[in-house]
Amino acid sequence: MTATATRAGLTLSGVTLRYGAGDTLVTALDGVDLTVGPGEVVAVAGPSGSGKSSLLAVAGALIAPTEGTVAVGGADVTAATPARRTALRRAGIGYVFQSANLLPSLTARDQLLLIAHLAGRVTREDRDRADGLLDAVGMTAKASRRPHELSGGERQRVGIARALMNRPALLLADEPTAALDQHRARDVVALLAGQARDRGTATVLVTHDEGLLGAADRVVRIRDGRMN
Ligand code: ADP
Ligand code: MG
Repeated sequence: MTATATRAGLTLSGVTLRYGAGDTLVTALDGVDLTVGPGEVVAVAGPSGSGKSSLLAVAGALIAPTEGTVAVGGADVTAATPARRTALRRAGIGYVFQSANLLPSLTARDQLLLIAHLAGRVTREDRDRADGLLDAVGMTAKASRRPHELSGGERQRVGIARALMNRPALLLADEPTAALDQHRARDVVALLAGQARDRGTATVLVTHDEGLLGAADRVVRIRDGRMN
């Protein structure tokens, strides 16, 4: 693979993922090729059980593929040692889940500062960055609120800001609007896509909601682990 092909964003080449063995063998991904450029938003659509979450787990270096290679931000994740893979994941990848999974005792602002804390000492620049991200997602006025004082949509907005805190090359969102009504779902997806484009973050958005696909630059469909 050339340096240009993996310079930034995400590249999956010939990725196959199998779970189990023998009678219980499941092929969750079957020869998947996918490239997402910096600032590009790709939506992945497909029915339940088609391999969408498996795709994100492999792209996010949480699971090693059975075959094929994954490169994130120019680094070959599949060839990396487990320690290096963890470091790449922390520094290079942001995740947004179905529910924001915020820590109940922390304010919105502290959810973001925790990310900086985990990476080392919290600097003035980190505080400014957290405040800038909270502003970008429209949460400045509620920066001191804890999760139980926020609506589902607000929690997802904090989750998106948190995922962007470490300036990831890659943002992975697994059905981030599943818990929201249609109107809020559109807002959250528009926000996610806008931030990705502004910040040059390669973004993969998994959704089974056809109404949200318009926010993406490109839509790919997956069925039985195969991409169209
Ligand atoms: P989706 O997110 O599109 O619903 P998944 O990636 O979760 O699909 O699942 C793809 C296939 O892999 C399904 O057949 C599912 O049952 C199977 N699968 C997912 N995770 C595991 C696992 N940890 N062990 C065994 N099979 C799994
Ligand atoms: Mg899933």
